[in-house]
Amino acid sequence: MNQEYTVDPSRLVSPDMTPADTEEVSLRPKTLDDYVGQEKAKGNLKVYLRAAQQRGEPMDHILLYGPPGLGKTTLAGIVAQEMGVQIRITSGPAIEKPGDLAALLTNLQEGDILFIDEIHRLSRQVEEVLYPALEDFALDIMIGKGPSAQSIRINLPRFTLVGATTRAGQLTGPLRDRFGILLKLEPYSPRELGRIILRSAGILGVPITEEGALELARCARGTPRIANRMLKRVRDFATVQGDGTIDEETAIAARKWMDIDELGLDELDRSVLRAIIEMYGGGPVGLETLAAALGEESVTLEDICEPYLMQMGMLTRTPRGRCVTRLAYEHLHMAVPKRFDDEDSGQTSMF
Ligand code: ADP
Repeated sequence: MNQEYTVDPSRLVSPDMTPADTEEVSLRPKTLDDYVGQEKAKGNLKVYLRAAQQRGEPMDHILLYGPPGLGKTTLAGIVAQEMGVQIRITSGPAIEKPGDLAALLTNLQEGDILFIDEIHRLSRQVEEVLYPALEDFALDIMIGKGPSAQSIRINLPRFTLVGATTRAGQLTGPLRDRFGILLKLEPYSPRELGRIILRSAGILGVPITEEGALELARCARGTPRIANRMLKRVRDFATVQGDGTIDEETAIAARKWMDIDELGLDELDRSVLRAIIEMYGGGPVGLETLAAALGEESVTLEDICEPYLMQMGMLTRTPRGRCVTRLAYEHLHMAVPKRFDDEDSGQTSMF
């Protein structure tokens, strides 16, 4: 079923910044009070921040995990701001050799924050160098080769590593154990995303009503980065189609124009559900098989579509593969198979 569909790039969140994201920097909240939602992570962080400030010591190393675009980099920046220190931002794949990491570490000042995005992608060799740096604030460097090789130890300033990952499960045990603080970021509710959109609209000078913001928020897959991108796209739509203000009506028209339905599903999401139903009798079907049938990358399905479809209660992951739920049939206006009437699936609508 290699049917044609267009995936709106603004709906795909990759860990890499796109040129359009440079404007994102100005939208980043600078303080914890401006950082909307994530109450649990924020509450914990406040306690750790206060304790470190009172002791006059750097923060313990922090691991932030959760899907892309949820605010991990932003939170690291806020920690730096609150602690009054500098932050250096890099990523796992950018640190190719142990020497790259050594250069980064030796350039830090006392108390600074080193932010490593996609930390699960660090190579083993680099990780080995990181362990003593995290534990003893020291670097062990080998000089020379063969029998005359010598190991020398360089002391480092006490720093805080903030690691971010979309896949906590892919982190090696020894690395995970060296983080004192683990914070999980959750998808945002439409209300929280609505607040983020109103805040961003204020910064960008886009006229928007509360209802308009909430309508856009429903199409943002629980992700602030997508919410901000949607705002920018709909701003253009509102300028061309209306008087420039994003009200509920304009937001709904824009959503339909982008082929996003009232639950925030786009054409790719619906294709996934339709393929499972029409080609595999509702599942189970393996991820790779499904990806091949749709002509999509399996990572796109796994990282982008599935978390949201599962959050909406339309898809389940079982040991034998992916299955759709009764809700998926209902949402697509397809006949619900009799087996759903026989079994009490325990699946309840979120709405
Ligand atoms: P990640 O590092 O998890 O991929 P970012 O920190 O880069 O995500 O966040 C993406 C964008 O979303 C930021 O530029 C910021 O404008 C916005 N954002 C993220 N979290 C929040 C939040 N809690 N409140 C307001 N805006 C947020």
